[in-house]
Amino acid sequence: MTNQSTGLSQELHPLVRRVLAPNPSAFTYSGTQTYLVGRGELAVIDPGPDIEAHVEAILGATAGERIVAIVCTHTHRDHSPATRALKAATGAPIIGCAPLALEDDGPRADAAFDVDYVPDRVLADGEQISGPGWTIEVVATPGHTSNHLCFALLEAKALFTGDHVMGWSTSVISPPDGDMADYMASLDKLMARDDLVYYPAHGEPVEKPQRFVRGLAGHRKQREGQILRLLREQERPIPSMVEKMYVGVDPRLHGAAGRSVLAHLIDLETRGMVARDGDQWRLAA
Ligand SMILES: [Zn+2]
Repeated sequence: MTNQSTGLSQELHPLVRRVLAPNPSAFTYSGTQTYLVGRGELAVIDPGPDIEAHVEAILGATAGERIVAIVCTHTHRDHSPATRALKAATGAPIIGCAPLALEDDGPRADAAFDVDYVPDRVLADGEQISGPGWTIEVVATPGHTSNHLCFALLEAKALFTGDHVMGWSTSVISPPDGDMADYMASLDKLMARDDLVYYPAHGEPVEKPQRFVRGLAGHRKQREGQILRLLREQERPIPSMVEKMYVGVDPRLHGAAGRSVLAHLIDLETRGMVARDGDQWRLAA
């Protein structure tokens, strides 16, 4: 768990504070971390779940300051629902990722989507927003969700990575909205950057982030290799692969693991390496 309590803000950098939401779970680690960027006039990144105490904590931490932008990385329900309460309280515009109507077709593996999210302005890759002493640049990173954005704080060479790169676990990639090929391309995109630190929505800051991202990409390649080996033995349904690939992993996460295996299989299918008959997956002939 992070060394942080809910309700209070913690300074990580002169321009960056975080407020932990009280929503710990098997998917959110110690909870969603809302970031406050700037001083005096500031942006709030990922206001989090619509929990009154959390919105109060954000308002308390910024008392005497002005929130000029409410910014979202993506629209999972542990990230964007508090945009409404925060906008109502401050009048600040909601600026960030695109809204998403697509529903997950699988079991409730990861967080569900916030279908009530209504941005005042959608940001595209490379766009900037700024305030006194801070500049935030958008880095589009589809994969975890199709609308996922990371945000670079140029003055700190820091990147707010949302759920694309987390400090405690790999991301769930849940089709059809989650896309493994997009996710891998978005990891490559981060590896080509020279950020000094990542501030993920869940877990501690990540130092030496390029090395960390290389590790994440390697981990996915390993998973892909495992899948191909298992299918070389015999054709299989996804639960049989999860059982062999996620030995020792919390069974509460097996549903989510199955979604990530499906994401790999769809990617391999697109590349002509595997095929399916109903629930059974096999190597392509
Ligand atoms: Zn998410």
